[in-house]
Amino acid sequence: MEKQTKFNIWYVIAAIWGVLLLQNIIFDQFRPVVIPYSEFIEAVLNDKVIEIAVGQDRISGKMRADDGTEQLFTTVRVDTDLSQKLSEHNVKFSGQVENTFIKAILSWLIPIGLFFGIWYFMMRRMQAGQAGIMSFGKNKAKVVGEKDIETRFTDVAGADEAKEELQEVVDYLEHPQTYLEVGGQMPKGVILVGPPGTGKTLIARAVAGEAGVPFFSMSGSDFVEMFVGMGAARVRDLFVQAREKAPCIIFIDELDAIGKARGAGGITGGHDEREQTLNQLLVEMDGFDTQKGIVILAATNRPEVLDPALLRSGRFDRQVLIDKPDVNGREEILKIHARKVNLAEGVNLRTIAQKTAGFSGADLANAVNEAALLAVRKKLKQVTEIELDEAVDRIIGGLEKKNRVINSKEKKIVAYHEVGHALVAALTEGSEPVHKISIIPRGLAALGYTQQRPTEDRYLMSEQELLAKIDVLLGGRIAEQITFNSVTTGAGNDLMRATDIARAMVVEYGMGETLGLTTYPRQRNPVFLQTDMSSSMGRDYSDETASQIDQESKQILAQRQHHVTEMLTRCRDSLTAIAEKLLEKEVLYEKEFMAMVPVDQLPDSKRDLEK
Ligand code: ADP
Ligand code: MG
Ligand code: ZN
Repeated sequence: MEKQTKFNIWYVIAAIWGVLLLQNIIFDQFRPVVIPYSEFIEAVLNDKVIEIAVGQDRISGKMRADDGTEQLFTTVRVDTDLSQKLSEHNVKFSGQVENTFIKAILSWLIPIGLFFGIWYFMMRRMQAGQAGIMSFGKNKAKVVGEKDIETRFTDVAGADEAKEELQEVVDYLEHPQTYLEVGGQMPKGVILVGPPGTGKTLIARAVAGEAGVPFFSMSGSDFVEMFVGMGAARVRDLFVQAREKAPCIIFIDELDAIGKARGAGGITGGHDEREQTLNQLLVEMDGFDTQKGIVILAATNRPEVLDPALLRSGRFDRQVLIDKPDVNGREEILKIHARKVNLAEGVNLRTIAQKTAGFSGADLANAVNEAALLAVRKKLKQVTEIELDEAVDRIIGGLEKKNRVINSKEKKIVAYHEVGHALVAALTEGSEPVHKISIIPRGLAALGYTQQRPTEDRYLMSEQELLAKIDVLLGGRIAEQITFNSVTTGAGNDLMRATDIARAMVVEYGMGETLGLTTYPRQRNPVFLQTDMSSSMGRDYSDETASQIDQESKQILAQRQHHVTEMLTRCRDSLTAIAEKLLEKEVLYEKEFMAMVPVDQLPDSKRDLEK
């Protein structure tokens, strides 16, 4: 279509030229000869001129030529006095006039050219609006793979677990043949999950750099274009290119932008474009086999919104977690970025790392850069600890609004709180072992967290296990209480969950003392499914029973509180020691933690496990 239009326009231009040329030749015969003024004067003197018309600066007329024929002529007037003198002195003179032929053609051609130019432009625009989209999209879909990426794993600090997991991908890309021979199947897709700025994009590049393979990257937000079909075209092109260059890496940054669950967010209606893109991606992922040596990496900080279809086996079935760095990680990251600036001797990056709990890698990189800018402003030659400190404070100021970066007093409380949970979990019969304790803030809500590791899938819970759960939940608040003799709001969620369990024991599981085996199930329907308000207000038991339920659950909680307070008071020294350790390291894993738990306090079943 486009080609035809181009062809047409040259046709038209050639035709116009032809017409003009012809016109020129034909009219040439009737065209007056241009003669010098002196010749005209001479002709007048020789009585050759028949008639003339005198214009302002031009005289045209008819004269008799030497062969007797009449000849049209024209000449440009020259000032008469001058001409008299000129002829007296025998000078050949003539008037001058611009070449009218070229002028005429130009005065024709320019408007015509302009007209056709505009017309052509409009045609193209109209075509793009109708069917031309594909060719338009095709251009934009061109993906250029990056070769010779310089990023290496050494440029990424504090993500050792992720690096370890991705090392396998690197090995595979380096020697796809070996994997082929043994018959191992690499996962097609690996998804990097973690908060913004933790180095997901960086580590993806590092994988390509380490393996020395081309890197095709696209961002999910790029895919979402105005024109329907463009995103899908891009995905198609991405895979076509990658197949040519295998082994290679395809990296899709911000996968959530296209990978949102289909049908979600339907209020605004048409997400056609995104859905088409996502579908195309799924089709492409299903359509290639891993033996080609293509690995698809993707990154997201919102794994929970992803379409489950993306996470099915054979697609992004492997997740690599990249969390915010702990204090050692932060020190390493600071070191990496400090190499790029002129750092004064003896700057202690460790102290900076300790101050920056909750910072992501990007925040730290930013801090170093800010510090360098501050040093420049102060006309210093080197960046000192003062600038680094100032930069960190500035960023904390900004982050406090968005995120949570906690001050050292809060941090201490959080540490004791979390260790309280963990100690109770370790010392209680029927509680799951502690996997990890962390006081690196996560998002808005959690200042710290204690992870327990389920040892088996559970469908039934004994009364003892439910009580153990309550104990663990209370542990946080009670540890705060016995250490600081005061409590904070941080335990609100724990207490709510503890109360929930206690109530459920009474009203649902028949574990109360006075209510017996009668159950009083709570209204389970989610609020939005309720049609009439009365059902949420109403309950099918008496006020008396209600107060009995309250009494009983209160009693359970009071008992547990007493029990946990006793337990934690007994091992206060361990509580303090572990909390201080946690403050220093920010993250404690099972082994380090269990090594500090007092063995004589362990319940029998767990003591056996320890040996
Ligand atoms: P994400 O993709 O997770 O949002 P990026 O990879 O874009 O984060 O990180 C932004 C920048 O922050 C990187 O270019 C790098 O300079 C710095 N950075 C982030 N994490 C790290 C890290 N673990 N080690 C070194 N630098 C990091
Ligand atoms: Mg990124
Ligand atoms: Zn808690």
